[in-house]
Amino acid sequence: MSFTITCPICGKRDLYEFRFGNEERGPAPDQEGLTPRAYSEAVQMHTAVGGPQQEWWYHRDGCGVWFTTWRDTLTGRETDEKGNIS
Ligand SMILES: [Zn+2]
Repeated sequence: MSFTITCPICGKRDLYEFRFGNEERGPAPDQEGLTPRAYSEAVQMHTAVGGPQQEWWYHRDGCGVWFTTWRDTLTGRETDEKGNIS
């Protein structure tokens, strides 16, 4: 069984059509009032959760859209936000 990602435009496709864009972390913090180190950590440090996490994906070999989806980092399978396989 191959891994798949569901593009909102094209539907469920093979994982190899996509580029991983990292975990969804919300908007970058306002730089004002933050030290360079604190800003760098806020932008570049990852939580590396074990389980469902919301991630950015780019449909590189398809429609060229960036979108978010949920994936269980322990199994590699796409899920809903509660970890149920979709
Ligand atoms: Zn697509």
